[in-house]
Amino acid sequence: MKRVRFSVHRTVGEARLLAGLMEGSGLSVEVRGESLSPLAGEIPSTETWVEVWLPSEEVERARELLAELEENREAAARTVECPRCREENPGNFELCWSCGLELPPTLRPRLRAV
Ligand SMILES: [Zn+2]
Repeated sequence: MKRVRFSVHRTVGEARLLAGLMEGSGLSVEVRGESLSPLAGEIPSTETWVEVWLPSEEVERARELLAELEENREAAARTVECPRCREENPGNFELCWSCGLELPPTLRPRLRAV
C-alpha cells in the first residue's frame, strides 16, 4: 500500500490530535517522527516536526474530513440569536438550547464580537 505524507506538525500533540480524529473516521493514519520529540530544543526545529502519513487512496477522504472540521470550528465560533427567545446559541447548534426552536440556517453566520 503506497503511503503519502499528508501533513507536517510542529508538535507530537498536534499530530496525534489530527491522527486520532482521522482514525476515528476509519483512516489508516501513521504518525512518523515522534521519537525525535524528546530532543526538541537540542536539535534544529525542522527536525522535530512530526508527520502524518496516509495511504494515497485515503488522502481525499482526509481532506474532506479536515474541511468538515474546519467548518464546524468556524460555525462554533459564531453565535446565533434565537428568533423566539433571543438567547444566543453557538453557531453549530441546530436547536435553540433554551427554547428548543429549530434555528434557521439563514441566521448563521453572525460573528461573535469578542
Ligand atoms: Zn430560543
